[in-house]
Amino acid sequence: MKQLSVKSKITLWLTLLMALLSGLLLAFMVIISRSVTTRTYRTLLSQTLRSNAVHVSLTDGSLDFDEEFRFYQNGVTTLLYNRNQALLAGQVPVGFSSQEAFESGSIRTVSAAGTQYLMLDLWVPSGWDNGLWIRGLVEAPENEYVTQNLLRMAAIALPLFVLLAAAGGYIIVRRSFRPLDTISAAASAISEAKDLSRRIGLPPGKDEFSRLAETFDQLFERLERSFEAETQFTADASHELRTPVSIIKGACEYARKYDETPEDRQETLDMIYRQALKMSNLIAQLLSMTRLEQGTERPAMEPTDLNTLTKQVIREGNYDISRITADLSADAVVRGDAALLSRLLRNLIDNAFKYGRPDGHVWVSARREHGEILLSVRDDGIGIPEEHQEKIWQRFYQVDSSRSDDASGAGLGLSMVDQIARLHGGYMTLESTPGAGSSFTLHLPSA
Ligand code: ADP
Repeated sequence: MKQLSVKSKITLWLTLLMALLSGLLLAFMVIISRSVTTRTYRTLLSQTLRSNAVHVSLTDGSLDFDEEFRFYQNGVTTLLYNRNQALLAGQVPVGFSSQEAFESGSIRTVSAAGTQYLMLDLWVPSGWDNGLWIRGLVEAPENEYVTQNLLRMAAIALPLFVLLAAAGGYIIVRRSFRPLDTISAAASAISEAKDLSRRIGLPPGKDEFSRLAETFDQLFERLERSFEAETQFTADASHELRTPVSIIKGACEYARKYDETPEDRQETLDMIYRQALKMSNLIAQLLSMTRLEQGTERPAMEPTDLNTLTKQVIREGNYDISRITADLSADAVVRGDAALLSRLLRNLIDNAFKYGRPDGHVWVSARREHGEILLSVRDDGIGIPEEHQEKIWQRFYQVDSSRSDDASGAGLGLSMVDQIARLHGGYMTLESTPGAGSSFTLHLPSA
């Protein structure tokens, strides 16, 4: 049974059920038809006998019939006996014993010479001490014959019926299950060809299979996207790590050959240190982003005051205080992870200085607008050309990678900013004019 396909199991079950139902139906039919025929014969006997009884009487000891009296009618034989139970008139069926005791009003079954009879006696009184027995006999219905006929019909009809049910059931089940075959064929083609761009592509419908196929297609879509993202990420990450590694390698080779004075060595060591720092920052950032993405590092959502947080970030950031203006007048408490929000703000302020003019200024402000809390970092620096504004949120994207010196990042900062904003149920917006400056704004739901 375990080896059978679902299609076969359903068909088998339907067939067995049909066979069982047909059997039960047949049994019912036999029982009911038997009882109906018997009842019909009893009614016939009773009615015929009672209507005959009206047409006969015993007048002064002798029988008196009128012309409507029938000794044999509708298969019912009528016999007339005197009160001593001696036959007065009528033809007793061959082999029927006349010894059967009389009993008025009740129908009994008697058998005689291999034939079953239904028998009814009526007592018709005459005067005060005389009377007449009227006995009616009818051959009992041959139930066996009825049953046999039914069984013969059933023997032909029922298997046909069951076969029809099985075939119909199988066809319907097979049709309904066809989409499942398409789904599993597509899924295995995807897995065998390792081709994530393939889709099942069932025509849209409301049944379970269409929904299943749609869910699978969405799953493949997501798999494909995350697979592409992973491939891109791995390529970018290894590329980013390769640069500092080859700089370190080059520096070591150069130092071995040409560095003679302690000053030369110191310079090389500084360079190696800066590159190592860059690598370690990059790895730390990548790790943190991956953890956030995978949910291993979960943000602690606690009431956090963005004003306090901003002051702290500015204080700890070692920035040139004379070049920062902070407008922190509004009440700006949000639900969020203070450490992550600090990281977001630090990235934005770092960028504002990094891409600002040498003597430029940075403005940080927290305010409320339309039920949101906004935290903006604005600079009067180089700005970002329109065509780059969408892309700067992608990992490793840099507008002008030649600009980024040793100390700068690898194009991960804004991608992390965006990730942190989304983790807090918020989003980032950017307004920027090349040559005039940029303003990055974090939008958060208020606590
Ligand atoms: P990184 O600073 O490490 O290059 P980010 O993800 O922080 O990476 O920024 C991506 C790019 O966006 C930067 O390379 C830079 O070109 C641009 N950018 C970010 N902030 C600013 C800013 N305040 N002004 C101008 N350009 C910016």
